[in-house]
Amino acid sequence: MTGKSYATDQITARIRELKATRRAVILAHSYQPPAIQDLADFVGDSLELSRQAASAPEPVIVFCGVRFMAETAHILAPDKTVLLPEPSAGCPLADCVDAASLRAFQEMHPGALTVLYVNSPAEAKAESYACCTSANAAAVVESVPSDEVIFAPDRNLGTWVSRLSSKLLHIWNGACRPHAGMDLAHLRACAGEWPDAEVLVHPETPPAAWELAFKVLGTGGMIRHVASSSCSRFIIGTEEGMSYRLSTLFPDRVFRPGGGIRCPNMKITTPEKVLAALETMMPAVSLPPVTREKALAAVTRMTEISG
Ligand code: SF4
Repeated sequence: MTGKSYATDQITARIRELKATRRAVILAHSYQPPAIQDLADFVGDSLELSRQAASAPEPVIVFCGVRFMAETAHILAPDKTVLLPEPSAGCPLADCVDAASLRAFQEMHPGALTVLYVNSPAEAKAESYACCTSANAAAVVESVPSDEVIFAPDRNLGTWVSRLSSKLLHIWNGACRPHAGMDLAHLRACAGEWPDAEVLVHPETPPAAWELAFKVLGTGGMIRHVASSSCSRFIIGTEEGMSYRLSTLFPDRVFRPGGGIRCPNMKITTPEKVLAALETMMPAVSLPPVTREKALAAVTRMTEISG
């Protein structure tokens, strides 16, 4: 992969102009297309972007990701305008859990506190003790003051965390379709073709993928691992945008997506839509104040715990 920018020069120049006029910062998730990663001020995982949203001095955040990420930015920074350039960018994993179903699950496990993966709707966050990302899920579960923990909504991440934790986890039966449906035969074939490469897979992938991997890591962990590894080639078992992100950070190494993981919702934001959002200052994300305030405690606990 190369560091080539796909945004046209004109659009990029106009975005830069408007960014200064509006005093905006552009945040992009590592699964975003190369053209979006190239024009962003910060590219990162959910935890890094949440922290950026909270600490950025700019009053306008353009969030290139999916809806729950922009909602989280709004929860942490209610005085800022959070723009989601593509309003239809959702997350089927987040849609697996709603507030009423979560409350019913909590009634079945009255001794458990709830740790909710940040890939979830704000209404469910408002019913939870703490949120987490894949980077700090195990640390957040350990930090919760109860021996039993409800973990929702991703069952693969929950299963991975249960292997690292001494606590009893009650795991919600949800999944990220692109990660859970990864092509294991493709991952195996990549590993066979590059026997010297390290295989890194995301904990949202199925347990069978973990058996093929050198390490199971969130995206931030993958970056830290590559930085400390002496290996020159890597097979990346997470959303394909992450291989581009790694290639920009480590141009002397070679990265190859393994398992054919592509999230359609992460691919629909374009430079043209970013430009339109900055021109019109729409669409802005907002939540009912009661929901936002109830979700804030859980989201704040997430940002305070390192991965
Ligand atoms: Fe949701 Fe999975 Fe897409 Fe992430 S990769 S936005 S968890 S569907």
